[in-house]
Amino acid sequence: MTDTTDVLIVGAGPTGLTLACDLARRGVPFRLVDAADGGFPGSRAKGVQPRTLEVFDDLGLIDDIVDHSTTYPLLGLHVGPLTLPWRMMGRHKVTEDVPHPETRLIPQYDTDACLRRRLEQLGGKVEYGTRLTSLVDKGDEVVATVTGQDGERTIRARFVVGADGGASAVRVQADIPFVGETDESDKMIVADVLVDGLARNRWHIWPRNGGRFLALCPLPGEKFQLMLRLKPGETPDRDPAAIRRLVHDASGRAGLRVREVFWSSVFRPNVRLVERYRAGNAFLAGDAAHVHTPAGAQGLNTGVQDAYNLGWKLAQVLAGAPDALLDSYEAERRPVAARVLGLSSDLYQKLGDRPLAAATRGDEERQLKLNYRDSPLTHQGVANAPVQAGDRAPNAKYRDTSGHTGTLFDRFRGPHFTLLAVGDAAVTATTALPWPTTGAELHVVKIPTGAAPSLTKIYGLTGPTQILVRPDGYIAHIVTADYTAALARSAQTLASPSIG
Ligand SMILES: Cc1cc2nc3c(=O)[nH]c(=O)nc-3n(C[C@H](O)[C@H](O)[C@H](O)COP(=O)(O)OP(=O)(O)OC[C@H]3O[C@@H](n4cnc5c(N)ncnc54)[C@H](O)[C@@H]3O)c2cc1C
Repeated sequence: MTDTTDVLIVGAGPTGLTLACDLARRGVPFRLVDAADGGFPGSRAKGVQPRTLEVFDDLGLIDDIVDHSTTYPLLGLHVGPLTLPWRMMGRHKVTEDVPHPETRLIPQYDTDACLRRRLEQLGGKVEYGTRLTSLVDKGDEVVATVTGQDGERTIRARFVVGADGGASAVRVQADIPFVGETDESDKMIVADVLVDGLARNRWHIWPRNGGRFLALCPLPGEKFQLMLRLKPGETPDRDPAAIRRLVHDASGRAGLRVREVFWSSVFRPNVRLVERYRAGNAFLAGDAAHVHTPAGAQGLNTGVQDAYNLGWKLAQVLAGAPDALLDSYEAERRPVAARVLGLSSDLYQKLGDRPLAAATRGDEERQLKLNYRDSPLTHQGVANAPVQAGDRAPNAKYRDTSGHTGTLFDRFRGPHFTLLAVGDAAVTATTALPWPTTGAELHVVKIPTGAAPSLTKIYGLTGPTQILVRPDGYIAHIVTADYTAALARSAQTLASPSIG
């Protein structure tokens, strides 16, 4: 049996599900297959960063995520008989430009469930029990063989995206080297447990526990996520009785007891990055492209943002945009992953000898300052402005020429590009806009002079300006003159050549 589609997504973890949601809302035909029988049961990635929350806001699942998450509690550092409170991340208030300022605590099984629910609302679904076993790139399409309960099938697609995790079959089939190392002597047990006799208002850490590191983090609901880093060379024992004993010994408290173990796994620090994000018609995203330690809560977030970067580019190229647009995926995302690898390895290293430094988070982890200033897609900017071409387009309030008031994030939400024309001269120049009739639409927000003082301040504008915002919320260009020429040039790289 052969099926045909535009995009085959292999793997329905957070990366594949995000890509599927994005393609579904764009009306791009896709198939999403996963080898497992259903969603992954363990808590794994529990930190969703502010930039990822903005992605979820755009994709329409932020309320579900907020309903299933909490903010992070203070750490409780257990040192001898003392428990020292420690704030891991600074408190961030909601501001006009950053509506989701705090990292949310949510187990990965719930993040995945929120994404699956959103995908169903958008008319998509996951084909579980369907494993990719081989892949042939024919140049104008890929031919994938998948096996499931009903035997072997062939799926032909224009593009394939490997979102199939650290052991990616797509990566192997596409013959892309995964460069780095795995430390076999360093092991950490991760488990979801019920614990009696432990307060739920702290993320409990026993940093120096006879060569082991133990952490128990209260998840929304009743469970704790347990992380136990073993001594070098120690053999992990995941038997519930062994876990119970280790936790009891570490805490030194008679009343503290692990009552139930729901899920457990052994994690080895694996720090690797692919040499290439693309081979012909195959792309890699998420853990298939980069893996690192859990320190810093970056893995899921980086995967979601890979997918968010790739989705609109696939849709645009399928609608006629130049294929080079897809090369910008690696140019933009690989440097981000390389930085994340360094950051998380550094934090993990400090776990044993500098626990307070390891338990401190700054701006970098929040991923709001992540930018594509050096991308081939980024054109022109205004020197010395706080927001440059290539940066995330911040939220701001505005009033448009018809008197409508609102926020930019409300106008960005959806699969389109947005042109902000701020100031009378920039608004006047929107009368004859060159934009293709195929692919993502261009929405124009016309803001007269003086109608958005806070927006002007946040973006650092000093006169009439046009700002082109990509569908993933990054700025393609900022110009204060020659508006039409700038838009025509951006359209050539970002959209199809058929200017309407
Ligand atoms: C202990 C631990 C704690 C972590 N903590 C954090 C954290 O706090 N914050 C954070 O951001 N990240 C964290 N991470 C990392 C995070 O879990 C991963 O980065 C994330 O799951 C990657 O998502 P993904 O969708 O790319 O891959 P995965 O979630 O691994 O999904 C891949 C999917 O592909 C499927 N698949 C595999 N092979 C095939 C095939 N041949 N055919 C079809 N389907 C296939 C699998 O069944 C799976 O569903 C943690 C990881 C661990 C282990």
